[in-house]
Amino acid sequence: MPVAQHFSTSYAEARRKFGDAAAAAGAKLAEYRSPSKGPGGEALATDVARLGPEGAERVLITLSATHGAEGFCGSGIQIASLAAGFGRQLPAGTAVLIVHAINPYGFAWIRRVTEENVDLNRNFVDHTKPLPRNDAYDELADAICPAEWTDAALAASRARFAAFTAAHGAAALQKAISGGQYSHPDGVFYGGARPVWARQTLERIVGEQLTGARRVGLIDYHTGLGPYGHGEQIVLHPGGSAAYRRAEQWFGTITNPALGTSTSAELQGDNLQGLAAIFARRGIEFTGMALEYGTLSLNEVLDAVRADNWLHHHGDLASAKGKRLKAQIRDAFYCDKDDWKEMLVEQGMRAQQGALAGLAG
Ligand SMILES: [Zn+2]
Repeated sequence: MPVAQHFSTSYAEARRKFGDAAAAAGAKLAEYRSPSKGPGGEALATDVARLGPEGAERVLITLSATHGAEGFCGSGIQIASLAAGFGRQLPAGTAVLIVHAINPYGFAWIRRVTEENVDLNRNFVDHTKPLPRNDAYDELADAICPAEWTDAALAASRARFAAFTAAHGAAALQKAISGGQYSHPDGVFYGGARPVWARQTLERIVGEQLTGARRVGLIDYHTGLGPYGHGEQIVLHPGGSAAYRRAEQWFGTITNPALGTSTSAELQGDNLQGLAAIFARRGIEFTGMALEYGTLSLNEVLDAVRADNWLHHHGDLASAKGKRLKAQIRDAFYCDKDDWKEMLVEQGMRAQQGALAGLAG
């Protein structure tokens, strides 16, 4: 079956295909129900498929839709992998945990954020401590998220961005906008005031499904940064650490925002570092990677995220403009083209095989 057929045009279709593929592969399924509903009133859930024994010592986790709208990518890779027999012949003591749609609200509504308007990959901070500051975001907040979404407002925000770039550089602008902020709940890349449902769910899943695990690998599928179809293998393990070297052995060329080698800005509160802390407390060896596939240019992607934020706070989803902005954000995170999907699956499956071999070694 052509690879493209494993991709979906909606969360509901993706969920159906995932359930079918998991059942056909003989996986054990668990459902974590979301309190939210989809745009058609449909139930939402994070679905988990397990292949391999309970209590396995070595576990590979794959994760889709951390950034909801990016779930078209991760879901397609997960379903294509199951259809290709991934996880059917596992080494002894090894299990695979396929976590489908950890942010089902964002996937269903084609938003990057959760139902709380939170970027799940900025939410894994300790909310009992003072939250990270982002003064540059505060300075640019009304340009990043203008009250009107018109050509004039966009031109004005671009002028502010150009002035900021002239003074501080393009990387500083990217970090200001996308590095995460905790001061504007109705803004973009907002990290939240408390752990959101999706974070609690991911923590519950690793609490319930990894009894007996000693070594864990994780691949989290993302889109929106880098060249079309290219998979950037981003790790957040400190450069030179044992985990960093392990990731290099498993996956080949890796990047790290803190080392200045990634297309991503340096982040705080992402799930990789959040899980690394949890696994460290449990004495589990952890090797995690975000596999980030390129779609459109960075400016197009950031514009789509800002437009979608305006739409959900100030606009009308049913209007012609609303429909146009939803198409814009879908296109920013999902290239509905066969060659793009083939590139995704090929690189995703290679990373999964690398992780399985690494876990066994
Ligand atoms: Zn992402």
